[in-house]
Amino acid sequence: MIDRTKKYWTGDSSEDIEEYLREYSENEHLDYRAVVCHVCGNDALELRVDQNESVIQIKCPLCGTKKILLDCEEYWEDASPRLRKCSVCKTCKQFNVRIGFERRENGDVRWVYEGDRCVNCGTLGSFLNWEINYGPTTDMEQNI
Ligand SMILES: [Zn+2]
Ligand SMILES: [Zn+2]
Repeated sequence: MIDRTKKYWTGDSSEDIEEYLREYSENEHLDYRAVVCHVCGNDALELRVDQNESVIQIKCPLCGTKKILLDCEEYWEDASPRLRKCSVCKTCKQFNVRIGFERRENGDVRWVYEGDRCVNCGTLGSFLNWEINYGPTTDMEQNI
C-alpha cells in the first residue's frame, strides 16, 4: 500500500513500485519486471546511476554480484555512474527495483521506466527513464 500523506510517497512492499510507476509514467499498461540478484535472489540492491547517460548498474550487497541492466552496457564506458543514497532518509543505499516497459503496437519496448523503493524508509522514486528507438527489443528486455 502506498502512503500518500507525506511529501514523498512511501510503500511498504516492492510491489508498490508498480503503482508508483503507473502514476509517474501516466501509463496504465506498463509491463513490469522485478530486479533481483541472479546469484542469491536478494532484492535489496545498491544502485550506480548516471542520469545524463541513462545508465544503471545494480550490485548485490550480500554476494557482490554486479549487473548492468538492459541496454546500459552500450553507454557504460562514457558514463560517470554514482552510488545512490536515498534522498529522504539520507543513509540507506539499498533499494528494491522494478522496471516498467512501455510497448509499441508491435510489442517492442518504446520506453523504459526504472522505479525504486528505499528498503529503510520506503520512499518510492525513479532515477531514470529512457527511450528505446530500435527493435526488436527481446534481448534487451531480458538483460536484467
Ligand atoms: Zn546476491
Ligand atoms: Zn530512505
